[in-house]
Amino acid sequence: MVQAETLCMVVADGVRADTMARAIAAGSVPALARLAAEGGLHTVTTVFPSVTGLAYVPFVAGRHPAPIGVPGIRWFDRTRRHLRGLGASRSYVGWAMRFFDADLDPHVETLFQRAQPAMGAMTMVGRGLDRAQWVGRSLYWQARAARIHFLRGGLRRWLDWDRDVAARVAARVRRERPRFALAAILTPDKVQHAQGQDSPFLAETLRIVDALVDELRHDAEREGRADRLRIWVVSDHGHSPTPHHDELTDVLRELGLRVASHPFTAGANRADAVVMASGNAMAHVYLDARRPERLLQRALEGAWRDVVDALASRASVDLAMIPTAADRCLVRNATGATAEVAWRHGRVDYRPQTGDPLGLGEERLDLDDAAAWDVTAQRTHPDALVQIATIAGAARSGDVILSAQPGWDFRRKYEPVLHASGHGALHRDHMLVPLVVDQPVSGTPRRTVDIGASALAALGITPPTGVEGRVFL
Ligand SMILES: [Zn+2]
Repeated sequence: MVQAETLCMVVADGVRADTMARAIAAGSVPALARLAAEGGLHTVTTVFPSVTGLAYVPFVAGRHPAPIGVPGIRWFDRTRRHLRGLGASRSYVGWAMRFFDADLDPHVETLFQRAQPAMGAMTMVGRGLDRAQWVGRSLYWQARAARIHFLRGGLRRWLDWDRDVAARVAARVRRERPRFALAAILTPDKVQHAQGQDSPFLAETLRIVDALVDELRHDAEREGRADRLRIWVVSDHGHSPTPHHDELTDVLRELGLRVASHPFTAGANRADAVVMASGNAMAHVYLDARRPERLLQRALEGAWRDVVDALASRASVDLAMIPTAADRCLVRNATGATAEVAWRHGRVDYRPQTGDPLGLGEERLDLDDAAAWDVTAQRTHPDALVQIATIAGAARSGDVILSAQPGWDFRRKYEPVLHASGHGALHRDHMLVPLVVDQPVSGTPRRTVDIGASALAALGITPPTGVEGRVFL
């Protein structure tokens, strides 16, 4: 294979794997269809929680986000060592997204650093990009976003926004010839949140992605560098209808607890419980939040056990994860079936206790990352073993980690516009994402971390230490 001079990664934010496959089969995205025909269309799993921002970390770093500092789109720092003000809480929805890179482990290196000159558009993670290389960071874009948001500009204005982003990306790739470019088209996510999968705007957003790919490709062909350009199209999470909204803060208040939750986090320092939802089909619940250390085994004792039971038995909850030690976690489903997931040195065990909540049929021991993916890929919760181990072991995660039942999410009161469709859960509706690669691959693309690892390899870059993905080229 000719080594790539430029790798363009186009993120079709929130596009389900089956949505992409249907669009390609229907002939409505000819440029993507051509890429898929020459290379391949694959279905891979994203990270849990399946939400924008942190789900881009695998693309640019080949790493899972939770262990390197970002366990959700909202999280609470019970140690108060990293986040001191604002109730020790972080929400990347809004102005605080600027802190995303600083919250990541300082040792983590990204493709933006390793593959200079680089550029990024509409990405929350941008470590290594300077301002001029980062489309979407300037005041111009912030003012424009605020105008659409507050003047209720509607979806048409967001579509215009993405056409503008795509045009700028194509022009800059043509002019600057970056080694690595990541361009996110965000409207597929926005239109599904507002109108669901049947929105007539969804097809229009895919045509924006298609037109961008077409332009990148034609430019390269015209300039005789098509064999040195790689174009990969990916998504960061799925989507599914969420007609039901469960307000977890009310559940906890009814148990007599003092609760803090975004956007009212000022009291988090004095709270018994802090709720931090992502997507919103996922939530970290921090219990006994005044103490700097995680509950772990204590979550199963005394009054905390009743709180955990109350949360886990909600109709809205599909899976409840309760980390019990630094290297193990209980996972419980809606019927109360419980199993233990344990991990050490990159290998994972699954031991049913009172049932088989992940539907794996039997005990599974000593699986490496590939085997753990293979036994779960066709199940309701693809990649559940590695994802549970990853998030439960992360220091910034909650004491109870909830993944929503299809049809539900965890925020009713404080969402400006109720979501018609959402994401964030460990369910396959949210975890499966498409990957279009423009050349045949010899390995098996499994996870989005494999995309970051393979992008480094395609550019001939030695991977930084800690990269978790496997190269599929
Ligand atoms: Zn979203």
